[in-house]
Amino acid sequence: MSTRSDRPVFRFAPSPNGLLHLGHALSALLNHDMAKAAGGRFLLRIEDIDANRCTPEFEAAIFRDLGWLGLSWESPVRRQSEHLDTYAAALTRLTEMGLVYPAFMTRGEVKARVATFEADGRAWPRDPDGSPLYPKDDRHRSETERHDLIDSGLRHAYRLNMSEALKIIDRPLSWQETGDGKKGPIAADPAAWGDVILSRSDAPSSYHLSVTIDDAAQGVTHIVRGLDLYSATAVHRLLQELLGLPEPVYHHHRLIRDEAGQKLSKSEGSTGIASLRDQGLLPDDLRRLVGL
Ligand code: GLU
Repeated sequence: MSTRSDRPVFRFAPSPNGLLHLGHALSALLNHDMAKAAGGRFLLRIEDIDANRCTPEFEAAIFRDLGWLGLSWESPVRRQSEHLDTYAAALTRLTEMGLVYPAFMTRGEVKARVATFEADGRAWPRDPDGSPLYPKDDRHRSETERHDLIDSGLRHAYRLNMSEALKIIDRPLSWQETGDGKKGPIAADPAAWGDVILSRSDAPSSYHLSVTIDDAAQGVTHIVRGLDLYSATAVHRLLQELLGLPEPVYHHHRLIRDEAGQKLSKSEGSTGIASLRDQGLLPDDLRRLVGL
């Protein structure tokens, strides 16, 4: 008989910063179905490090919508806001490895820098999502200068020094992909993301750091999520290697798009699970709508 520890572990990990839509329904149902088919476990994780945008009402709506869809999950549910110490400890570890620096530029300052640079007809490097890479200025500050800036009360985030991190790994990284796009071992290119954020100025962690730590802490073996996070997997693989965490298998699924071909957003009422339920649709109708 299989024990709890050798069963595959799947998870659905929404952020309670809006109502769930059909894209979330596809992801949650796929995770649940794949866990069932594999005789595995299905976990729900609440990704709520952003205290400014996440609310208990949206969290309650997640439970309500998933329950209505017919899903059940293990208790207790892990909430990221209850594990901030764990993320801080990982940040300290990476700092002690010499891989982290305080980053003082605001999003607006980065934008202005890029605009000035590009006004000369030169192209600023961008990450796979199209955002400009963080300028290198803060990487090279002295310790004294860093302390002075922090002591002056300047808001700051913490970023990974990507080139130093890659020196430690010093070999090509890859991940195992079983999803809707390319399958097999996929070459991971974390450098394409530049100096990624590990701890935000307005939250004590970042998506990349907390997702990587939680998947390991919860023993997740299969990560099933949308193709919008495909390229970010490179960053997660790098953090796994740096922190000595196990490597899960990844399955990135197709995205549900609106009539204009855009990815669904949480503000979109018409494709919300709750709004479709209120219109009288049944859970099986939603399964059909997402193509399952
Ligand atoms: N919390 C992320 C989101 O809502 C998903 C994280 C993941 O599946 O890796 O988009």
